Amino acid sequence: KTALLWFRRDLRLVDNPALVAALADGAVLPVYILDEGPEVRPAGAASLWWLNRSLAALSADLEARGSRLILRRGDPARLIPEIADQAGAASVHWNDLYDPGLRERDDRLETRLSAAGLAVGRWNGAHLLRPDEVRTRTGGAFSVFTPFWRAARPGIGAPERTEPPERLPAPAGWPASDTLEAWGLQPTAPDWSTGFRDWSPGEAGARQRLAAFLARGLNGYGRARDFPAEPGVSRLSPHLHFGEISPFALWRGAQNAVERGAAPEADAEKFLAELGWREFNAAICSRGTDLARTSFDPRFEAVAWRRDPAALAAWRQGRTGYPIVDAGLRELWTTGWMHNRVRMICASFLAKHLFIDWREGEAWFWDTLVDADHASNAGNWQWVAGSGADAAPYFRIFSPMAQGAKFDPDGRYVRKWVPEIARLPDRWLHAPWTAPPMVLDQAGVGLGRTYPAPIVDHDFARARALEAYAVVKGR
Ligand code: FAD
Repeated sequence: KTALLWFRRDLRLVDNPALVAALADGAVLPVYILDEGPEVRPAGAASLWWLNRSLAALSADLEARGSRLILRRGDPARLIPEIADQAGAASVHWNDLYDPGLRERDDRLETRLSAAGLAVGRWNGAHLLRPDEVRTRTGGAFSVFTPFWRAARPGIGAPERTEPPERLPAPAGWPASDTLEAWGLQPTAPDWSTGFRDWSPGEAGARQRLAAFLARGLNGYGRARDFPAEPGVSRLSPHLHFGEISPFALWRGAQNAVERGAAPEADAEKFLAELGWREFNAAICSRGTDLARTSFDPRFEAVAWRRDPAALAAWRQGRTGYPIVDAGLRELWTTGWMHNRVRMICASFLAKHLFIDWREGEAWFWDTLVDADHASNAGNWQWVAGSGADAAPYFRIFSPMAQGAKFDPDGRYVRKWVPEIARLPDRWLHAPWTAPPMVLDQAGVGLGRTYPAPIVDHDFARARALEAYAVVKGR
């Protein structure tokens, strides 16, 4: 008997429950569909860069085990039944996802496949918990992280690691497949991805990243995670998003490190709680509202955002005149990733200082992040804007100068990404416009010439945001 194994955001062979189930059925037919169904938000350019390499790695891993990855593009609701039929498959297995519309699409697909006499297996491969599993005592959904995590944390037990066999039993014949090259997922001229070189998409790259983090990063994570110049975080987010590593592998790794005495329990708990935010965002997202479009807190739909294409362009390009903001946006453009602390600062600057709709920023991140993830991106943008579940209060407005001084005290991060002000002394680095003309001269900085003057005044912006947000208060 043949089982169709539908790979989605679970591009791995270790710890893959859908693969385990398919193997139990007999021969395995691995399929990946570039999803162009109507329910799916088209992936951004940086995600496609990653996907291309991740699929190449998965194909090679399957071929090393005597198998193949069948590639098709289009609407899975049509293609999965078609391929299953052509291959004479008796069952179809996949790991569930919870982006808006997907669960309902998958429910319809399951009904159709079952009606055609196929067995359908839907597994949990992407999350520590099924998002709707964590319930309040009265059976409701949580909207606040701390009680959510308090309820969820004790129930999370990592299952045993599962390894694929040396050879995957192959079906009698292979259906037609596209080639990856024909999908054209790579940027051509201009190639903006030269700064993406340090990433190693694929399962082996994910495992190396985790091993390096457990060896050097976990110990001290609780403090170092806030300092963008330090190697204090795991950078596992794109690997997790594409499912090249199971979140349970991180869970087991962190717990083993504590047991071996390689990291204090408090650091491991902090790391696990960050994975908890990933779960929380998925749980909020699985309730059905498309949070990239609609405020979780409906009062925020009344906010009158400004339209300012010039300011939006300056923000995207890292030319706002606020060094920590510009550093973050340049890191994002160059590497496809930005440190979490700086994501918060940059997002806050767009929504509060420029008072531009956070959806514009969410869309930019969606296109440029290699870890762009519907639930985490929209959830975090809404957190920053104040409209999300368990969000930062709208009236708390980050000062980019204070944030820079606190989390990049010696300026290493800013100097790396904003080299035109690198020679400014630390004291003025996070607010160059406050430096005396002589200091600017000596550092070779010409405000408005070699580096922008601030595009908006901090105190003015703060007052404007508070006034405009006041509409929320009375509702
Ligand atoms: P680590 O500190 O090593 O954390 C380990 C893992 O925990 C991460 O890989 C990630 O899966 C998860 N995690 C950590 N923080 C968060 C968080 N706040 N929310 C959800 N999960 C978290 N994360 C994404 O994966 N995709 C996104 O599209 C995304 N967009 C964001 C947009 C904004 C405006 C902000 C403020 C944050 C966003 N994040 C997003 C969350 C966070 O910034 C990244 O997950 C983190 O920076 C990834 O780096 P890391 O793997 O080194 O994190």
